[in-house]
Amino acid sequence: MVGDRANKIPYSGIRKIFERASTITNAIHLEAGEPDMLTPAYIREAAKSAMDAGATHYTSSAGTIELRKAIANKLKRENNLDYDGGNEIIVTAGANTALSLAFLTLTDPGSEVLVPDPGWANYEPGVSLTGSMPIGYSLLEQNDFRPDLGELEKLVTTRTKVLLVNSPGNPTGGVYSSEDLRRMADFAVKHDLAVVSDEVYEKIVYDDTQTQSIASFPSMKERTVVVNALSKTYAMTGWRLGYAATTKNIAAAMTKLHACIASCASSVSQAAAVAALNGPQTDVEEMVSEFKTRRDYFVEALNRIPGFHCRKPRGAFYAFVNVSELSEPSEALVLEILEKAGVVSVPGAAFGPHGEGYIRFSYAASMDNLREAVRRLERWRQIRAE
Ligand code: PMP
Repeated sequence: MVGDRANKIPYSGIRKIFERASTITNAIHLEAGEPDMLTPAYIREAAKSAMDAGATHYTSSAGTIELRKAIANKLKRENNLDYDGGNEIIVTAGANTALSLAFLTLTDPGSEVLVPDPGWANYEPGVSLTGSMPIGYSLLEQNDFRPDLGELEKLVTTRTKVLLVNSPGNPTGGVYSSEDLRRMADFAVKHDLAVVSDEVYEKIVYDDTQTQSIASFPSMKERTVVVNALSKTYAMTGWRLGYAATTKNIAAAMTKLHACIASCASSVSQAAAVAALNGPQTDVEEMVSEFKTRRDYFVEALNRIPGFHCRKPRGAFYAFVNVSELSEPSEALVLEILEKAGVVSVPGAAFGPHGEGYIRFSYAASMDNLREAVRRLERWRQIRAE
């Protein structure tokens, strides 16, 4: 009964690990891409009040006007981007839905979409489901997990419609420089490509690292879909609240498709998002500072384990560890670490062919869990070496 489109999408490379992990008691879970913190109290309170005040109905398919205005204000205040909340913003169930709507809107069957490799595991299926072809561009460790414009020039064809940009990036934690973004912007203009800029980790950066939206470069607003979400920034993954900001035309097309697929994002989550964006941002600063403490501890500890090499990530909350000295494929190592050490990680190959030779740990976990994970990894490595 299942059609070709669904059949052709492979099961996520991570699924097998998760299934195995669920059978192991007391495993330390460092696989999930989400903050372990509770959503800040003022946001939860706003959701409760909104529910009681009757925010229990459908909203406009683009989202409530209050939220779209709050997003427009945020984009102006923090990113120096001018978007009209009235018709250039669409609110979706997480960044994931915004990305899928962008791919559906900007491509035709047979189009090609340039996606980072390694890159977030949902980009490939998200593009393939539209009938387009994901084409990986490499983010190599020796280049600080930043793109190589020369390679992009070689990959672009007359079928290329979209360039996907994700900085700070999952799974590498790499952050593109302003010069990288300018060159990518020039590349997009030269080849008349749309750009989908996934900025979900924009706030999670360390050591004075600056982020900039590619939409802020000249001639870019008219060809860019900025995608963001409250998921990571406000520890709101389960609320499913994301958005896209783009031109009036693209936003109208995305909204039309959104109406067909999902009607609208959750009304209660939208009310919570207004509070999050308009409220004090101190909780966000505290979370990022906590992630920095964890990163500093965890990455240093991992680098002391023989055969593990990890660059200090400048953004997001992942340690992308080079394990090529130990074992290939990395999936075998992840399973070994799960079974022998009781620590759950993700094989780099799940993020694309250039992820092979790496494994990803999330350090958005408590310090206690990170310390215990390190103890277990050290013990496992010692026994393995004997
Ligand atoms: N983009 C990237 C790079 C991600 O890592 C994730 C979540 N892991 C998403 C998008 C999806 O975000 P959301 O939960 O808001 O759909």
